[in-house]
Amino acid sequence: MMNDEEWEAYCDSFSDDDGFDRKDRFADPYGHSCLFPASESNPRIYPCPTCGEPNRLTERDLAAGYQCDDCADRDEGLKMPI
Ligand SMILES: [Zn+2]
Repeated sequence: MMNDEEWEAYCDSFSDDDGFDRKDRFADPYGHSCLFPASESNPRIYPCPTCGEPNRLTERDLAAGYQCDDCADRDEGLKMPI
């Protein structure tokens, strides 16, 4: 199981940025998503490489090798309420 601190370290391990603003970096800054926020220059137009759902990833997500939140959650399998 990952606690929030470990999760942040996990997310940060994918980032080359130092001192980035979480609100600019994460689509869901206070959630558990590692995905980049979509914007005009970074539209969410790519399918998830795992489940194939369209429009799940931005170009930066794809470049970082991410998958969609649903697949990430499933992979972790850690979000089950006790
Ligand atoms: Zn997916």
